[in-house]
Amino acid sequence: MKERLRSLLKTLMLTPGLSGHEDRVRRRIEKELADLPLVLRTDRLGNLIATLEGDEGAPSVMLFAHTDQLGFMVRKIEDNGLVRIERLGGIPEKALPAQAVLFCVGEGRDVQGVIANKSHHATPPDEKYKVTPYQDVFIDVGAEDAAGVKALGIEIGTPVVYDPRVIELNENRLIGTSVDDRAGCAVIVEVARALAAEGPRPTVHFVFAVLEEFNLQGAMVAARAINPDIAIQLDLALNADTPDMTQRGEVALGNGPAMSLYSFHGRGTLNGTIPHPALPKLFSDTASAEGINLQRTAHTGALTDSSYVQLVNEGVACIDMCFPCRYTHTSLEMCDLRDLEALTKLLIAAIRRVDADFSLNRDDYT
Ligand SMILES: [Zn+2]
Repeated sequence: MKERLRSLLKTLMLTPGLSGHEDRVRRRIEKELADLPLVLRTDRLGNLIATLEGDEGAPSVMLFAHTDQLGFMVRKIEDNGLVRIERLGGIPEKALPAQAVLFCVGEGRDVQGVIANKSHHATPPDEKYKVTPYQDVFIDVGAEDAAGVKALGIEIGTPVVYDPRVIELNENRLIGTSVDDRAGCAVIVEVARALAAEGPRPTVHFVFAVLEEFNLQGAMVAARAINPDIAIQLDLALNADTPDMTQRGEVALGNGPAMSLYSFHGRGTLNGTIPHPALPKLFSDTASAEGINLQRTAHTGALTDSSYVQLVNEGVACIDMCFPCRYTHTSLEMCDLRDLEALTKLLIAAIRRVDADFSLNRDDYT
């Protein structure tokens, strides 16, 4: 299982898919699911919904992760051939200079470039510790003028992402682009494979959602169409095991999957997720029974699309399940394959426990 996760994760990390332009990633996942007994459909926004029928008396489950990644769009092409960008998603501006990027012009035609960093020899002392706002950033694609840029197929509105890359540090840990949330997507494919092979199971809708990094609301549209009783979202948990992060909690890379007991954005978006009480209990009980170490996280500053999914129709019982991740939203995010494997096993076992007797009545959890 770990080797299949490794291989699919690497493939997905190397497939670009800026928010609103996720189709290449979706098609790759469709290919992966083609042999399974799933009913596949893609909605108008680009959400891929793969349904596996199960016990009709049991609450239905939506298991979802996002296919999109953050990045940029071309804002202006200067006469001298340098390209200005607009940001899309939570871009860390201090981690941008000297990064390689990819202009997604079309499959097989993509163009590489570099985010310029002022020559060090020309940087006065007071500039050395300054972050350049993205408005002042420019990208060099090697063209000599604007016509040269346009000849490459680059125009205003062309999607730009970190140049897709994977570095395997050792047997378990890898770094690269879009671990957020291609790791979640790879885990879902593996869960689908296992649940399709063997029952029991409730009906499960595997959703590969769009637009998370843009507005967090792509998955909501899928949930409206599916109308699930339970929704389980997979995404990263911020690590707390590097010196800069120790105040954030206790999540350690390589120490197992995590569940979120509280998230809240608080920076303009008044939203977050407090899980339905049935779900932390389901995952705690399952983790104990399976001998899986389950970490816990509760924090403000980040949120996921489960915040919106929980509000759909008459309300959906939601929880964020996570894999620990370091250096989030940079071009080199780190995860540990042991966490992904344990998260996969936990999800398979937990979803199998959702049977006709599984209660979502809050009074049963006092
Ligand atoms: Zn994410």
